[in-house]
Amino acid sequence: MTEASSSKGACEHSVVVYNLCVQCGAIVEGTGVSLPYIHKNIRMNQDEISRLGDSDMRALQRQRKLCLVLDLDHTLLNTTFLIDMREDEEYLRSYADSFQDVSAGNLFMLESMMTKLRPFVHSFLKEVIRHQKSLDVVLGKESSVLILDDTKDMWPKHKDNLIVIERYQFFASSCKQYGYKYQSRSLMKSDESEPDGDSIERNA
Ligand SMILES: [Mg+2]
Ligand SMILES: [Zn+2]
Repeated sequence: MTEASSSKGACEHSVVVYNLCVQCGAIVEGTGVSLPYIHKNIRMNQDEISRLGDSDMRALQRQRKLCLVLDLDHTLLNTTFLIDMREDEEYLRSYADSFQDVSAGNLFMLESMMTKLRPFVHSFLKEVIRHQKSLDVVLGKESSVLILDDTKDMWPKHKDNLIVIERYQFFASSCKQYGYKYQSRSLMKSDESEPDGDSIERNA
């Protein structure tokens, strides 16, 4: 790196995916900050990240709102590849819900995947939106974000903003992935109970 300007890459734009600028298509290598929780091959330059962060925070503070970040897998739902399903989980296929009315279903089959929503996800999301006023607070920039996730590894700089939720492992492939010895809920043909759901709300 000989000059500061060379760190900007081939153009002056801000977002790069797979080393290509999303605005002009220039090849931009090795610059910017990667954002793996959005996409593993996206990078954005630091000035743009700061600018977006500041304007988001100003808007949140004006409205006296918190930003709530919800993780998906093992927090709100659990997904498995169909090829990773065990023979004794195959019975689930016949329980798959239709996409016609997603708000009524809990188990969905995509081309190569099956996804199970955590019990009470529908009501949790409804409650969060309905009671959004209870999240209203006046806070500084750092504390305007609340994160709900089953793993803290993704958020090393946001420990104070993080609520770590008990990992939701419905499918056997998930238990295997984490080296858990006990049977998955799919094999026990059971699910988290209402008291478990209550504890999620209490912790939040
Ligand atoms: Mg997760
Ligand atoms: Zn560009």
